[in-house]
Amino acid sequence: MIPNNQALPYESTRGQSPLVSSASAIKMGIAPDGGLFVPKDKVQLRPGQLDEMLNQDYRQIAQSILELFLTDFSRPELENCVFNTYNALKFDTPDIAPTIKLNDHTYFLELWHGPTCAFKDMALQLLPHLLTTSLKKTGEKAEIVILVATSGDTGKAALEGFRDVPGTKIIVFYPDQGVSEIQKRQMVTQEGNNVAVMAVLGNFDDAQNGVKNIFGDHAFNEALLARQIKLSSANSINWGRLVPQIIYYVSTYLDLLRQQAITPGEAINVVVPTGNFGNILAAFYARQMGLPIQRLICAANANKVLTDFIRTGVYDRNRAFEKTISPSMDILISSNLERLLYELTEHDAGRIRTWMNQLKDTGRYQVDDRLRQSIQDLFWSDFAPDTETMTTIKETYQQYGYVLDPHTAVGKKVYDKYVAATGDRTLTVIASTASPFKFSASVIEAILGPEAIKGQDEYALLELLSTTCQIEIPEGLKNLKQKPIRHTARTERTEMKKAVKKLLQV
Ligand SMILES: *Cc1c(COP(=O)(O)O)cnc(C)c1O
Repeated sequence: MIPNNQALPYESTRGQSPLVSSASAIKMGIAPDGGLFVPKDKVQLRPGQLDEMLNQDYRQIAQSILELFLTDFSRPELENCVFNTYNALKFDTPDIAPTIKLNDHTYFLELWHGPTCAFKDMALQLLPHLLTTSLKKTGEKAEIVILVATSGDTGKAALEGFRDVPGTKIIVFYPDQGVSEIQKRQMVTQEGNNVAVMAVLGNFDDAQNGVKNIFGDHAFNEALLARQIKLSSANSINWGRLVPQIIYYVSTYLDLLRQQAITPGEAINVVVPTGNFGNILAAFYARQMGLPIQRLICAANANKVLTDFIRTGVYDRNRAFEKTISPSMDILISSNLERLLYELTEHDAGRIRTWMNQLKDTGRYQVDDRLRQSIQDLFWSDFAPDTETMTTIKETYQQYGYVLDPHTAVGKKVYDKYVAATGDRTLTVIASTASPFKFSASVIEAILGPEAIKGQDEYALLELLSTTCQIEIPEGLKNLKQKPIRHTARTERTEMKKAVKKLLQV
């Protein structure tokens, strides 16, 4: 579908797919040539727009930002999406994403006040509304079935986002042995009339490969289409998951202005604990819009592919995969980096294709010196191994009484390294990506020592963290043990398609 001339079209980073409207980009998820959709033209804040937004709440800011990117959506359509997402039913604070002061130059942007207590909610609560609106706008008749393979956080956030959303079903596969007890319980107690949750007898790769095979099975997809069913995905390559993340960088800047921590126009630094490069890419787009951000600090754990890339210009996934205490950052292929390369090469799809083919064939590519330099002008990166992450949780709690989850602690540690290396004292916002309660065992071990967690189950650890640190257990994790288990299905990893068939009665 070719958008009208007012609408901002979206193009593929691989340059071999037609332009589409934002609604089509969201519906399609990934471009037909294997690339990722990005806006064809740079999106910028209007002069004076930040000032105008100073007295807007999170929903109004969301509306203002989305209007700039999703130009083919009408104002009432966006209003409807935003008001059904960022509200008191879904988020446990009216600020939605509050900016919390640690000290004069360090702030945390808390992104975990949604129903599943991790930052994925910020986008996965909005995506279903954007998607269903996109289906209507593009005249889609088929029912959309979302397939997800999860290593923990994404599955639950997607289930909560899509539960009871008309015109959609969602099926989540999790590895039987690969998720924490809390994560598993969050999923198997999931409510909603359009949801299915299934354990795969295997590891995360088995679940992920199973889902990929189903997506790639043309005959099966044709058979589904004949019954008016289309499969789709909720992972972070979808523009509909990226664009909601731009909103909170604008909102945190406005928070800092309101708190008089900065003056209008003053630049800040942003630190993001990074895995798939989605969250930090949203900060890059916010900067490109004209938001005064000086430096983007990419914090990695022991899987430091991105740190190496930002320092050397060589992306090399040929290395051992490390299991860490910040599992949502245990990633060796950061899909959204492709969008950054595309933007920084002024949309040079030819070079992107070359690098992505090299990545696929050899697991490695190297960018030219000029591009490496322009990446380093904007980005800085370092990593924190688990031992440093644990120490950071303990020291931050002792010094400030503020409790960090392991992902956020990676961010804090890398920020400390940045200050030590550069002496830069620019006011800095660290993205806080999960509630500490989601990773109670590591947090308690960091604060009280390894003895404290011995023999305790994860539910007891929630209570212990609450009483030790005097913080309240979030609603989404409370009473988890008492909630009825609704999903007990299991499948062999080779039988996943059969399971989908049965669930969809085809
Ligand atoms: C997903 C996730 C991340 C990584 O975010 P990306 O957008 O994939 O870089 C970091 N922390 C937590 C808690 C997450 O769930």
